[in-house]
Amino acid sequence: RAKSQGRNTYGFYTEDLTRYASQRLDLETRLRRALAQAEFVVFYQPVLSVADGRLLGAEALVRWQPAGEAMISPAEFIPIAEETGLILPLGEWVLREACRQAQAWISAGLAFGSMAVNLSAAQFKRQDVGAMLREVLEETGLPAGRLELEITESNLMDQGERAAAMLDRLKELGLRLAIDDFGTGYSSLAYLKRFAIDKLKIDRSFVKDLADDRNDLAIAAAVVAMARALEISVQAEGVETASQLALLATLGCGAYQGYLCSPPVPAAEFEARFLRHR
Ligand code: C2E
Ligand code: MG
Ligand code: MG
Ligand code: MG
Repeated sequence: RAKSQGRNTYGFYTEDLTRYASQRLDLETRLRRALAQAEFVVFYQPVLSVADGRLLGAEALVRWQPAGEAMISPAEFIPIAEETGLILPLGEWVLREACRQAQAWISAGLAFGSMAVNLSAAQFKRQDVGAMLREVLEETGLPAGRLELEITESNLMDQGERAAAMLDRLKELGLRLAIDDFGTGYSSLAYLKRFAIDKLKIDRSFVKDLADDRNDLAIAAAVVAMARALEISVQAEGVETASQLALLATLGCGAYQGYLCSPPVPAAEFEARFLRHR
């Protein structure tokens, strides 16, 4: 396609950039409209005990369902929502919706444990994140102890020395903190000692080949052992097979989520399939 060097190469490059920029602008405009028109839905994925399969709770995962179109995955729009700041209203909406749903299940006498919600970097950095969380908990009536916030380790590391203080402030609200995608970010194990963390979520990339890859098994075993020694809970992400689950049980991993049990599903389906009266 490139005809010659010099100007043409440059032209090609800017053309590409322009197309890229306009696609993004389009997506940003659509995201903004989607928020106003309530095109987002929260799906829930069950979190279970490895030892006995008991339901422990759910992770809330946002979905974008534009009218008359196929559902759009968060992997496509969360990064743009992050860059444009739209993650702030979107993230707050997901949090409120997930807390409201958890409290509705609990008040209905259903055996629901705790709700996990992803907190983005942009949200975590905000001075007023604590006030926002307190307000949502108050409004929805969900006891703080039933809420677990998931933060990625890269997100924590970006905050440097401030991170410990920020986490402490969140912990004061009475909620629990989980490190999401553990093992994939730039991290220092020292933070596990300093930070008030309640749970490590072993990233799916280590779980995927657990049954065939001795290195992945060694990493999972080390993470579980370390977490247990530090008295932090461990949860495996992306468990798809019975043999992965059996290995996690042998390692002493406490909880899991994954397609083996169920992908994230709409609230009504979650309730029908996984919730029972106390
Ligand atoms: P995450 O928080 O690590 O969520 C787990 C992802 O793994 C989900 O993808 C889930 O559907 C998927 N998953 C769970 N079990 C399995 C399995 O057995 N196999 C496979 N292949 N995948 C499995 P999803 O829902 O597409 O979300 C992707 C990411 O988007 C999330 O990763 C999270 O980082 C982000 N995200 C989703 N919802 C929100 C939100 O409300 N706020 C923020 N800030 N981020 C969100
Ligand atoms: Mg998560
Ligand atoms: Mg994760
Ligand atoms: Mg992940």
